[in-house]
Amino acid sequence: MTAQLIDGKAIAASLRQQIAQRVAERRQRGLRAPGLAVILVGNDPASEVYVSHKRKDCEEVGFMSKAYDLPASTSQAELLSLIDNLNDSAEIDGILVQLPLPAHLDASQLLERIRPDKDVDGFHPYNVGRLAQRIPLLRPCTPKGIMTLLESTGADLHGMHAVIVGASNIVGRPMALELLLAGCTVTVTHRFTKDLPGHLASADLVVVAAGKPGLVKGEWIKEGAIVIDVGINRQADGKLIGDVVFDTALPRAGWITPVPGGVGPMTRACLLENTLYAAESLHSQAE
Ligand code: NAD
Repeated sequence: MTAQLIDGKAIAASLRQQIAQRVAERRQRGLRAPGLAVILVGNDPASEVYVSHKRKDCEEVGFMSKAYDLPASTSQAELLSLIDNLNDSAEIDGILVQLPLPAHLDASQLLERIRPDKDVDGFHPYNVGRLAQRIPLLRPCTPKGIMTLLESTGADLHGMHAVIVGASNIVGRPMALELLLAGCTVTVTHRFTKDLPGHLASADLVVVAAGKPGLVKGEWIKEGAIVIDVGINRQADGKLIGDVVFDTALPRAGWITPVPGGVGPMTRACLLENTLYAAESLHSQAE
């Protein structure tokens, strides 16, 4: 048996096309384009690449994007004041602070300062709380994108045993909430988990987000399981690989995401989806 590939790149491209269509329709009705503000502090090379992709995506779908490229020396107070201004701006629907931030800045305080209805990354405790209480509003992008990928397989998730590898605020924890909402029985594993292979042996669905190249061996995957690899690890030769050993997982899994071309493009597409949702459903009074 060979797993079927979940083509995140293609699914994301089709989502972007639908979003572009909706934006064009808004413009025809005389409504403004959704607006996304992207704040980048310092010059972390990976962050610069991510931010340039996000801006390119905005252009492709017809959003108005505002770039704030700030020096690494920017103070907490300056950032708080910028966020306050963007919170008040009628043309901005989403505010994104690219992480990680330089060490002198308090990311949690900054993320919490973003108005929850403009928190298109879905990181604000309000939005995570809404998801926990089964009334999601703006949902964290990576787990939301993964739910769209899972939907594309046509699999019925109800009653599946889902094992998540990694318990971060941006992936593992909100992923657990999404899968609970979808009716899975969820196990969250992390760096202190004993016997990871033992947990994976009964997993119908595996989501791996540890940032450890090749952590999950193909032999640990249950036959026919759905495998979602969130990890992005750059090797010495510049090649990107995931947290799952792809070659040995492929013959065992039922479905699997490639790296690159799996979860990454969907995360970006979901940011656009959230921004459009904020413009259409949360800020329609600002037209
Ligand atoms: P993080 O470092 O914040 O969290 C990693 C988690 O993995 C922690 O909870 C840790 O306890 C757990 N972990 C570490 N070793 C483990 C082990 N041996 N067994 C089980 N759990 C273990 O990382 P993050 O921000 O969640 O990112 C994880 C990976 O996903 C990174 O490679 C990152 O680049 C990638 N990522 C990709 C996307 C995307 O859109 N594709 C989005 C976010 C993160």
